Amino acid sequence: MGGGLRYHLNMIAGLPDPLCHRGRFAPSPTGPLHFGSLVAAVGSYVDARAEGGEWLLRMEDVDEPRAVPGAADGILRTLERLGFSWDGEVVHQSRRKAHYRAAFERLRLDASVFACACTRREVADSGLGPDGAPRYPGTCRNGLPPGREARAWRLKVEPGRVCFDDALQGRICQDLAAEVGDFVVLRADGYFAYQLAVVVDDAEQGVTHVVRGADLLDSTPRQIRLQQLLGVAQPNYLHLPAAVNAAGEKLSKQTRAVSIDVGRPQAALTAALGFLGQRPPAELADAGLADLWRWAIMHWDRSRLPRCRFAAAPAGY
Ligand code: GLU
Repeated sequence: MGGGLRYHLNMIAGLPDPLCHRGRFAPSPTGPLHFGSLVAAVGSYVDARAEGGEWLLRMEDVDEPRAVPGAADGILRTLERLGFSWDGEVVHQSRRKAHYRAAFERLRLDASVFACACTRREVADSGLGPDGAPRYPGTCRNGLPPGREARAWRLKVEPGRVCFDDALQGRICQDLAAEVGDFVVLRADGYFAYQLAVVVDDAEQGVTHVVRGADLLDSTPRQIRLQQLLGVAQPNYLHLPAAVNAAGEKLSKQTRAVSIDVGRPQAALTAALGFLGQRPPAELADAGLADLWRWAIMHWDRSRLPRCRFAAAPAGY
């Protein structure tokens, strides 16, 4: 079937167009936009636009207790002031629980998930994975211990490596059983886990290219396993270096990253492009924001991206 015809049939059926390059930015509204998230926004945006693709915006407020009132609006206003333009409506994960529930029920019918009675403390006490994070020892895998009640639901992972080719970081493999263990998809407090929500959303929104920070590289094999179990397509991945402060900590609310100054949008955009190895000519410093965006999209060069997981944020960020 010709591409054009398939496109039109998909439009009629209301399905995403599979031929399109569709990227996205998916911030968690836990605070104002900082340089680390700006880098993910700029990288995903320019990469999609350089391919003539679409770019979606999704508020990842699935972890409702962590969402800060007003933060989502603040992020949207900052993105607008910086000159981003997104396609379609902004999607909020907090309004998509029925979709996560449907995916979860599917996993439950397949016996891919099991109820777990363990508390966080019990998991932490039972041992750490190679990255130092607690690794679930499989306590409730074959049924709840007598007298214990279900708290969270976990996905059963089997031994064996899950691998993918990252467009920047190269081939990445992880043995989920050895390195992560059975992981939570429905939390003890009733909220769905980020890992499940992100997979359902990327699939249902027809995202073809995920460009985000390399701090999420270790989550990707879990997401790929979920894609396999749910029978949805695996997007292309490109993990950008994550910005760290002078102490080597990832920029975040916890490490007191400063918010992006919307009064100086060109400076912020130039800094993010520089961090991504793109070098706008000096004369663009005095040009308008639109010119800077035009240059960035026309000259986007993936081969100039630093091939590392972490890189220092410029001074002042
Ligand atoms: N919401 C995640 C964050 O802000 C990003 C998730 C993703 O891009 O997959 O770190």
